[in-house]
Amino acid sequence: MDSAMLKPQPRVTALNRPFWDGCSEGRLLIQHCPACAKSIFYPRVCCPFCQHGELDWVQASGNGKVITHSCLQLKSAGKTYCTRKTDDIPKSLPAS
Ligand SMILES: [Zn+2]
Repeated sequence: MDSAMLKPQPRVTALNRPFWDGCSEGRLLIQHCPACAKSIFYPRVCCPFCQHGELDWVQASGNGKVITHSCLQLKSAGKTYCTRKTDDIPKSLPAS
């Protein structure tokens, strides 16, 4: 088996395509609600704050506040969870 097949790939849909296209271009795009001015992530069909159905895509500023993070361990109890080259996997995942 080709080890490249082990890495999960995103399921691109009409709803989330702008996000993934932005990622391919090195840009973080998020949805923005013009009715209540809230930013929205992850991609949704309507605003979770006011249910407005016409959301815009905007590039994130790059500023934010990290409130927690997780560190990945690739091996545990003798099992290897990722046999692929790990240079492209983040070792620390922020959450906000
Ligand atoms: Zn809204």
